[in-house]
Amino acid sequence: MAEKIWLSTPTTHTEEQKFIKEAFDTNWVAPLGKNVNEFENEISEYTGCGYAAAMTAGTHALHMAVKMAGVKDGDVVLCSDLTFAATVNPVTYENGVQVFVESERDTWNMDPRALKLAFEKYKGKVKAVVLVHLYGTPAKIDEIITLCEKYNVPLIEDAAESLGATYKGRQTGSFGKYSAISFNGNKIITSSGGGMFLSGDEDAVKKVRFYSTQARDAAPHYQHSEIGYNYRMSNIVAGIGRGQLIHLDEHIALKKKIYNTYKREFRGLPVKMNPYLEYTEPNFWLSCFTIDEDAVEAVDPEKIRLALEKENIEARPIWKPMHMQPVYAGHDFVSCGDLVGEDLFRRGLCLPSDIKMTEEQQLKVINIIKGLF
Ligand SMILES: *Cc1c(COP(=O)(O)O)cnc(C)c1O
Repeated sequence: MAEKIWLSTPTTHTEEQKFIKEAFDTNWVAPLGKNVNEFENEISEYTGCGYAAAMTAGTHALHMAVKMAGVKDGDVVLCSDLTFAATVNPVTYENGVQVFVESERDTWNMDPRALKLAFEKYKGKVKAVVLVHLYGTPAKIDEIITLCEKYNVPLIEDAAESLGATYKGRQTGSFGKYSAISFNGNKIITSSGGGMFLSGDEDAVKKVRFYSTQARDAAPHYQHSEIGYNYRMSNIVAGIGRGQLIHLDEHIALKKKIYNTYKREFRGLPVKMNPYLEYTEPNFWLSCFTIDEDAVEAVDPEKIRLALEKENIEARPIWKPMHMQPVYAGHDFVSCGDLVGEDLFRRGLCLPSDIKMTEEQQLKVINIIKGLF
């Protein structure tokens, strides 16, 4: 059988090993050390976010963001609905209550009109907004920030999938009061696993470092006045991340080429690539499409996914909206009436977007899909 074509897997280079070797050579095989400090500096410089704290996972960075926003028992947090569960689960870690906000069709992200309805509905009760930039495509940030400012509620950006994507020339992850990125194995760059908490507020980042190293008070003995966590990234993992960051722009360029090839080759087919706003530059982490309404009955996403799977090619459904998840049954969902997330889930598919995929391999994917219509 032909070699497997993947959705998105790690693409490694040579510098990762160099940074790891340095950590071993100096015996900083620990959750602190030069790689951790430098990786934080390099990410804050790249994104322009201000300050950064390296974490064991993007999910943990989001947890710290929810904690820093002061979410407590019963507080309402308005969350992107069409996303991965890790965007919204940390609200539960702090006993907050997620209210899911509908997506729009221009970026597949949170609809500012639905956010406005949610703010009005939960006046005085909203503690934070959690906004994802799905598949590396920036959301309608200006409109959303305007609403957050009007209601004086902090914005948390889940930029786990969007490292390197820009909105009006500015990096995602630098808009939120608190933001999170991920270096999981399938993301645009990886540290094998890990994440980072970002903020322009230096004190907040210091506080996150405190909470994520077991919340030890400043005393020679072990004294604790608050509950802490063991969330700090290891110096080995940070070394991988540093080596990867050198290649981020190159990864983005390759991802963009994959997206544009799909877009060009699918001209004439009843499908549409995942859209983005003209004044944004996605990182094109995953290329996705939706099948037009009048064609989807004959060729649905699952039919395409299975046809690809038969040829050892990995494709994946669009994230299932949070308001449709059994674990979030009973949570409110605020929509303008047009069920965009459900519709994208029904008609959409994530296509192979691995940057090690050759042109011939991508053509093979394209021809299998063309053959189905
Ligand atoms: C990957 C991802 C996360 C979680 O990041 P981890 O590093 O895997 O914990 C959160 N949100 C979104 C949208 C993601 O894609």
